[in-house]
Amino acid sequence: MSQDNVLLKVESLKKYFQISTSFFSDKKLILHAVDDVSFEMKDGEILGIVGESGCGKSTLARVILALYPPTSGKVFFNGINIFELPNKRLREIRRQMQVIFQDPYASLNPRMSVENIVGEPLIIHGLAKGKKKKEKVAEILEKVGLSADVMPRYPHEFSGGQRQRIGIARAIIINPKLIIADEPVSALDVSIQAQVINLLINLKKEMGLSYIIISHDLAVIEHLCNRIIVMYLGKIVEIASDETLYSSPYHPYTKALLSSIPVPDPDYRPHKISLHGEIPSPVNPPKGCRFHTRCPYKFDLCEKVEPKLIEKEKDHWVSCHLDSLPASK
Ligand code: SF4
Repeated sequence: MSQDNVLLKVESLKKYFQISTSFFSDKKLILHAVDDVSFEMKDGEILGIVGESGCGKSTLARVILALYPPTSGKVFFNGINIFELPNKRLREIRRQMQVIFQDPYASLNPRMSVENIVGEPLIIHGLAKGKKKKEKVAEILEKVGLSADVMPRYPHEFSGGQRQRIGIARAIIINPKLIIADEPVSALDVSIQAQVINLLINLKKEMGLSYIIISHDLAVIEHLCNRIIVMYLGKIVEIASDETLYSSPYHPYTKALLSSIPVPDPDYRPHKISLHGEIPSPVNPPKGCRFHTRCPYKFDLCEKVEPKLIEKEKDHWVSCHLDSLPASK
């Protein structure tokens, strides 16, 4: 990847949380939410991060946004390590990185009007106030498919899809470079999901945005993303372009996720890889390959040695000891 074109670089990032075993005990345990994660993304890219709940994808997003301090590691935005910045400079960088949350109702202050919710970032960053702010809010509401008439109204007066549009308007009003969207459509009806996905695609084209889309839903990721990261228990297990990942997945976990996508064809009988058991606890992750407790292809080495993330083919990175995946199991 040409270094000029790199918007975001994540280097050996770890985020551990200390948790208590019980209210009455001083004993502390360590939860390995994100464990040695590295990747880069290009300016203009739509990068998907996918995995089951508890795999660390949302924590990873919050550390990249500097909402959580890292345990160790670096995040470079346009070549600048954001964890080394003084607060004032970090605020400036944060202006270029905005977030869209999963639950469009919980993320909007119910006591604020739409005008104040969408216009608040302009005030926080000292970009506009008064009449200028109002004009900008009206313009952005039109851009996301709402009208300026909704400005005096409150979040409870809107449907889920409209509330997500308000959340998107708030995120784009200060012209960010990167938007991190955490499960942006999973709380919406299926009929509304496609509208919001199309809105995100159109805004990317119009405003030159880059996105990180976090989702457990591989169908949503396939619609939106150019490149995909698959995470399992705090680690990256596979990185590939969307075409490669969906046509030639390599890691057994990716294969299992893909084989669980429903296909609207009653005659289609896909080869399913069933995963047995629950995802292990990130407090006490398995030794060796973290996936070995559920992997149908595991062999001796898997329990002892952690596989490295290596480039098996050009731009296709996989963390698995197998040289090739058996045709079926
Ligand atoms: Fe399965 Fe072993 Fe590959 Fe892990 S390293 S995914 S356990 S085959």
